[in-house]
Amino acid sequence: MAGIVGILAFDRVWNVGKFLKYSMVGLQHRGYASSGVAMLNNEIVFATKDVAPEDLELDMEGWAGIGYTGSRNGYPIVNEDVAISVDGVLRNPEEFLKKFTKDPRKALEEEKGVYSLIALTRDGDMIGYRDETGIRPLSLGGFGFDMAIIASEPVAMSVIGGDFRREIEPGEMVTVNSLNIKAERIKEPKKAYCSIEYVYQARIDSFANERSIYETRVKIGEQLAEERPIDADTVIGVPDTALPFALGYSRKLGIPMDLGFTRTGSPIRTMLASDSFLKIVGVQLKLNPIKDAVFGKRVVLIDDSMVTGTTLKNTIMSLRKLGAKEVHVLIGSPKLVSKCPYGVEVPEERELIAANLGEEQIARVLGADSIHWLTLDGLKKVTNYNLCTGCMTKSYPKVI
Ligand code: SF4
Repeated sequence: MAGIVGILAFDRVWNVGKFLKYSMVGLQHRGYASSGVAMLNNEIVFATKDVAPEDLELDMEGWAGIGYTGSRNGYPIVNEDVAISVDGVLRNPEEFLKKFTKDPRKALEEEKGVYSLIALTRDGDMIGYRDETGIRPLSLGGFGFDMAIIASEPVAMSVIGGDFRREIEPGEMVTVNSLNIKAERIKEPKKAYCSIEYVYQARIDSFANERSIYETRVKIGEQLAEERPIDADTVIGVPDTALPFALGYSRKLGIPMDLGFTRTGSPIRTMLASDSFLKIVGVQLKLNPIKDAVFGKRVVLIDDSMVTGTTLKNTIMSLRKLGAKEVHVLIGSPKLVSKCPYGVEVPEERELIAANLGEEQIARVLGADSIHWLTLDGLKKVTNYNLCTGCMTKSYPKVI
């Protein structure tokens, strides 16, 4: 899983270095264990690798550049003519780079991976491509009449004051240079958007597959209220992703919503944290419960997903310690029961609690009074019917 971004200035007097840096910072929620940048001045310069976007030097020089922030080492891949950042999985990245250098169109037609990419050529073309499934997102935008931006999510544009124009269609290639912007269909769409983008991957102020992420998450909360109305005193969401779920649930049932947690330090997505210490500390930093929000109350606690259950177990334990009378858990996604072959870090089946235990057992292990996951039908109803749900159903789109 990764965030990719490319910025090309139409006039070569611009230096896009600092725009690129802050766009990448805006995409760090998609992964930050590894990152890299390639800049184009008169030739492609591979500026840096394995530096967190926030720590990138601002003296990067170039009128165009591409960046990668994510979990895979090795991006961007570069030779003297082309640099490529990829969100997803290519069959053989080095082989692909060679083919792409000779003929981008043919390389894209023949590649069987699941991915979005942004490439920069020495001739001054920036190319964005989203495979025919659209599993990985990609959008097109700009900075006034001065720059074109291609990025995983529109937030990479808005954080630098740029504008989102449109999403790149599944199977579409967009080529931008200082003279024009050209869109071509490379493959017929076979849409299978990643469910996880809606549930927790995309940023709350983003947009994916024609849906506002914020509104979609509020609707997920309303859907949970329809599926499992609970007689409770307060609804709290695990920050930040589950807050709109809690809002939707609260509005639908007329149960007050409280801010149940405050955070110490910067947010750490525990599933993406690069080592086990960060995973443990991340749980604590992420969730510091507020006693007055839960003391003596019947609490509905909503989270976005459940992987191993460790985070929730700790959270429920601390809510009880602070005097919560009951804790009912709602999960804003269907059960995760299998891995993702397309580059999203969903652990192996043996580590996924919902793949191994029944609902009552899970509630007992977590110390919850009850538990409910969003149904698959509910997810489709509020998001999209063209969905990949492989990690929830073990039925994967037939694309590779
Ligand atoms: S398997 Fe799951 S995480 Fe992977 S693309 Fe499909 S929905 Fe997304």
